[in-house]
Amino acid sequence: MATAHRAGALDLERLFSRRALSIDASGIRRAFELGASIEDPINLSIGQPDFPVDDRVKKAAIRAIEGNRSGYSLTQGLPELRTSIWRALEADLGWRHGEGEDLIVTVGTTGALVLAVLALIEDGDEVILPDPYFVAYPQFVKMAGGRAVFCNTYPDFRMTADRIAALITPKTKMVMVNSPSNPCGAVLSARELADIVHLCDERGVLLVTDEIYDAFTFPDALEGGRCPSPARLSKSLLLVRGFGKSYGCTGWRLGYAAGPRALIQRMAILQQYLFVCAPTPLQAAASEFFHVDLAPIIARFVKRRDMVVEALDGLTTLVAPQGAFYAFIEVPKHLGLTGTQFAERVVAQKLIVVPGGVFSSRDTHFRISLAAPEEKLAAGLEVLRRVMSG
Ligand code: PMP
Repeated sequence: MATAHRAGALDLERLFSRRALSIDASGIRRAFELGASIEDPINLSIGQPDFPVDDRVKKAAIRAIEGNRSGYSLTQGLPELRTSIWRALEADLGWRHGEGEDLIVTVGTTGALVLAVLALIEDGDEVILPDPYFVAYPQFVKMAGGRAVFCNTYPDFRMTADRIAALITPKTKMVMVNSPSNPCGAVLSARELADIVHLCDERGVLLVTDEIYDAFTFPDALEGGRCPSPARLSKSLLLVRGFGKSYGCTGWRLGYAAGPRALIQRMAILQQYLFVCAPTPLQAAASEFFHVDLAPIIARFVKRRDMVVEALDGLTTLVAPQGAFYAFIEVPKHLGLTGTQFAERVVAQKLIVVPGGVFSSRDTHFRISLAAPEEKLAAGLEVLRRVMSG
């Protein structure tokens, strides 16, 4: 006879690790849940691409599934995808397979960042992060027992070597840069990046460059037709890129990291136990991403960026985004509201934005996503204009 389950016998709160209890739910998720409770909201809170995966890539994934490519791949990734990534890195950055560097295909860009943090950071180690930052960065550092040190980039959102230098201590192990950035859309110039590379070399800290949006840089920020990257200046860094955002496949969970072989090998050992490998049939399709022309999609996002800049002209301070999917906008000072209070005020008009405090130690701004249909974006901007001039 089956034994009845004992109700409430387990005190889970006592069992949870301090690590788990120290992590907050993402403020973006909260905004998303709020959206679910409003009828027909104008949701500008989510940075989820609003365009489909290219047909050629979809077909390649379907072929891989129908061809029963369903098993594990090698931990570091399918050889054919690794070859395509090397080819792309050689064309873009001049990195060559077979020299002192290696690469690993990861479970999204998140997978690469988690492996890097776990391979390098332990109790008390410091990691310098941009502020504003991508929400997950401080959480990764915290999970590993490290300390996030925030580099204040207000008001122009430029994470410069001068701003970083003042924060480096003997405990600093890693400096994270993110260009184009989430949530600001800031793109660092080759000159600015060269100074950061030089600083990190000089001080013996690892530069991690999160370039998940590199393929999504607007034409006005390109240099020599390409998004500036510190990986064009040095190979003593960790380069992290991904397919999810630029190619509209965030749910496919595909990213990669490249850098000094010893570091990639450490990350591969961790991946063996944590993730085993990235999804095999999707890896089998991913080489096709390198043939997709993003220009028409980017042109559309540039138009959306211009809509935002035009609509808010004269109402607030806005650093025009140069890439990625977002605009990080200051709450006009005359309103006397925090980012959170401003977000609450616009929710009353069905508009969902994310308060700046979710991405920062300050709560003076808010983020909107450009990954929304033009009519929704226009309606959202109308609400912003009304509230800002009120
Ligand atoms: N880095 C940045 C800057 C991001 O914005 C995101 C996604 N929002 C990630 C990393 C994680 O991306 P992925 O879905 O590839 O794990």
